[in-house]
Amino acid sequence: MMQLFMPLNFLGFVYREIRGALANIERMFSLLDKHPSIVDKPDALDFEPKRGELSFENVSFSYDDRPILRNVSFKVAAGKKVAVVGDSGAGKSTLIKLLFRFYDVEQGRILIDGQDIRQLTQDALRRAIAIVPQDTVLFNDSLVENIRYGRPNASDDDVRHAIKLAHLEDFIASLSQGWDTKVGERGLKLSGGEKQRVAIARAILKGSPVLVFDEATSSLDSRSEQAILSALREVAKGHTSLVVAHRLSTIVDADQIVVLSKGEIVEQGNHSSLLAQDGLYAKLWRIQNEQQHLSV
Ligand code: ADP
Ligand code: MG
Repeated sequence: MMQLFMPLNFLGFVYREIRGALANIERMFSLLDKHPSIVDKPDALDFEPKRGELSFENVSFSYDDRPILRNVSFKVAAGKKVAVVGDSGAGKSTLIKLLFRFYDVEQGRILIDGQDIRQLTQDALRRAIAIVPQDTVLFNDSLVENIRYGRPNASDDDVRHAIKLAHLEDFIASLSQGWDTKVGERGLKLSGGEKQRVAIARAILKGSPVLVFDEATSSLDSRSEQAILSALREVAKGHTSLVVAHRLSTIVDADQIVVLSKGEIVEQGNHSSLLAQDGLYAKLWRIQNEQQHLSV
């Protein structure tokens, strides 16, 4: 009996520990993907970035001995939106992991408001950046608690505001138990688009100066895509945003688009200047438009 009881009890403990420890989704991200090699310097700064200006300077990185990023340099000015595009495997998600310091750069540096991120405490860095990941994990809990992970002490009014901006109001109104509906493994299963909007609501609640959005690769129907797009526009207001995009239609309005190929920047510009260059971006744009025409 004891043998059966212990593991169950232990699992309960682990669940409570994880729930308790999780102030936000990124913490969970880091629990699942632990990198004990990254530790705070003894004199690390508990610096609070306010403007959210980002700068990647000659960043190179390898996984083991395999080079992934080579000499990547670009800036995201405070309050602007920069998109990163490129084929699968180009190194886009790796850039985000480096920004979040899951790994340290091999060469070069990443700055936030002029500070090398290696000089900051990991807590300070992670407070400054809200991530909407490619695949959002929902807990076996109510919808409202899932949203509140963004800021556990948020008031109900703040949560309602985030729900509105994330375009989740109609969805929640359609549920008989509203925001108390259980979601996740043993509750209601949400579609990919709904899950991403929950993650957007979390990010809005968190209120960090920098928002990072790693677009889901799976295709969404165009209604969910539109809902996500307008939710993103809301959250991007007054924030610096870095968006990894698969559907180029999501980023036509970006201030700057960085085109990555095999870990190197091959083009940079806004949508119209990149189309005029008639290079890789223009090619990706044509391919996506053709696919769209075929699917209607
Ligand atoms: P993208 O997001 O552009 O599709 P990624 O940054 O995820 O690309 O991956 C870039 C390359 O790095 C890929 O070839 C991928 O297989 C490899 N890679 C990603 N994560 C790891 C890892 N943890 N260990 C080793 N190789 C990895
Ligand atoms: Mg990726």
